[in-house]
This record gives sequence, structure tokens and C-alpha cells, in this order.
Amino acid sequence: MSEPIFQVIETELGRGVTYDCGCPCTPTAVLSVNEVGSEHCCCGKVHFAGAGAATAMDAYLAERKATRTREPEYTRGAGTIEVDGAAVEVAWAFPVD
Ligand SMILES: [Zn+2]
Ligand SMILES: [Zn+2]
Repeated sequence: MSEPIFQVIETELGRGVTYDCGCPCTPTAVLSVNEVGSEHCCCGKVHFAGAGAATAMDAYLAERKATRTREPEYTRGAGTIEVDGAAVEVAWAFPVD
């Protein structure tokens, strides 16, 4: 599976980070000032955007692994995307199929 290409979009809730998920959705992690945005798409892919995105993703996936019996393994990655001239952290985890 190739790495997602993130892009910034405007949403009703403010700026968000999305990617071409390959399903009918436009999963969007809405950027807010103090929090990391995330979306766990119905197709199983997860992404986070904002300061501490990778750390928040770690905690999220660890929690799921601890509480779910059928949690998949994920291919994971992290990077940055430029928003208004500043680098914003992004992290992603896609189920291994
Ligand atoms: Zn979806
Ligand atoms: Zn999807």
C-alpha cells in the first residue's frame, strides 16, 4: 500500500486534513488550536493531524488493542503537512490486509 498524500481542506468546523481514502468518504481530521484532530474512517483507516499527532495515535491504537478482540494490525507512518506556512504533524495507520 502506498503512503497517503494529505491535503488541507476547509470544513464547516474549520481547516481539516484529509487524503484520498479509496472509499466514498472524505475522512477529515479537523485542526483545532489545542487538540489533535482525527478520523477513523468506516473502511478502517485512521489519521490524526495536529501537534502530537503521532503520540495521540499511539495512545488511540493502544487503547483499541487493549479493549477489542478483533483489532487489525496497522501499517503506520507520520509526517508533516504545511498549513498557513507552518508544518503540522500528521500520522496515519491503515489496516494491513
Ligand atoms: Zn468512511
Ligand atoms: Zn475510508
